[in-house]
Amino acid sequence: MATTHKTRMLIIGSGPAGLSAAIYGARAGMQPIVVQGLQPGGQLTITTDVENYPGFREVIQGPWLMQEMEAQAVHVGTRMMWDTITSVDLSGETFIARGDGGDIYEGDTLVIATGAQAQWLGVPGEQELSGKGVSACATCDGFFYRGKKVVVIGGGNTAVEEALYLTNHSDDVVLIHRRDSLRAEKILQDRLFAHPKISVMWNKRVDRFMPGEDGALRAVALIDTQTGEQSDVLADGAFVAIGHAPATELFKGKLAMDETGYLLVQPGTPKTDVPGVFAAGDVSDHVYRQAITAAGMGCMAALDAERYLAARQFEGVTETVQY
Ligand code: NDP
Repeated sequence: MATTHKTRMLIIGSGPAGLSAAIYGARAGMQPIVVQGLQPGGQLTITTDVENYPGFREVIQGPWLMQEMEAQAVHVGTRMMWDTITSVDLSGETFIARGDGGDIYEGDTLVIATGAQAQWLGVPGEQELSGKGVSACATCDGFFYRGKKVVVIGGGNTAVEEALYLTNHSDDVVLIHRRDSLRAEKILQDRLFAHPKISVMWNKRVDRFMPGEDGALRAVALIDTQTGEQSDVLADGAFVAIGHAPATELFKGKLAMDETGYLLVQPGTPKTDVPGVFAAGDVSDHVYRQAITAAGMGCMAALDAERYLAARQFEGVTETVQY
């Protein structure tokens, strides 16, 4: 039977942003509800080794980190819901979300932490070699290719930044782009072209990723987009950097977003254009996209949600209800 769940802080999404908001919200007595979504734990649950999350000297596993965050959130009073939100109504004083099983979630405040997904090429070998040479995050995985040859696929800011970042680890970085010019900002292009460790292959599209005998990536098969000529480039690591897609379909026409779908927030805050609705993590951040920055934004969202409710109570707009 469909149930209505009420809370002072409704959180959609259970990655680092959502769970950090929950930890802060719960400790502030807001009895948050987290609706976990289709990928409980978010993007970190599909990565393996994590070496850059502060507090852990040894390498930790992404799924383990998310289990710990969830356990911490529950321990301090968060209610976790196995549900996926299919529609939202942000027009009233209480924000309403509907789950796909018919349950209704009502929040006095709403934290959107639905994240983003890396775009993939969709070519053979890509998913099979994910975590075995193929990655969508140089900051996360570049370290594992110290002294090895790596390629980056894409021609935007992300691809160029990832190529530049990878020169910290590798002396042989190849940027592969499907056209003969980059769309990245000029200053980034200048740095890329001037870098002695980076070369560019123009007019090449990836046909497939090929494993070696050890089952890890060995080479990338390319096709020239002008001539159709086929070639292979040897690589230990391949970083796909062709953009990310934020999970904001639910909020189209309801919240301000940029042309690529990222939620717009007031600079330096998680505040959206609807008072009481906050965005945290990759759903509003296409620049940093790290677990630690997402967690920080989740914390900010919870603090601002608390302040928003306190101000409303002070103004006597509504009563705060005990749930
Ligand atoms: P972009 O959409 O800017 O670029 C994607 C790149 O991938 C393009 O060069 C595109 O090629 C290529 N591409 C897309 N699909 C394919 C495909 N199927 N096969 C091969 N290549 C493909 O994404 P970014 O992630 O680079 O950037 C997203 C946004 O974030 C941008 O607004 C960017 O400016 C911003 N950003 C800003 C940063 C900063 O300010 N420091 C850092 C990183 C991102 P083509 O050019 O041919 O279309």
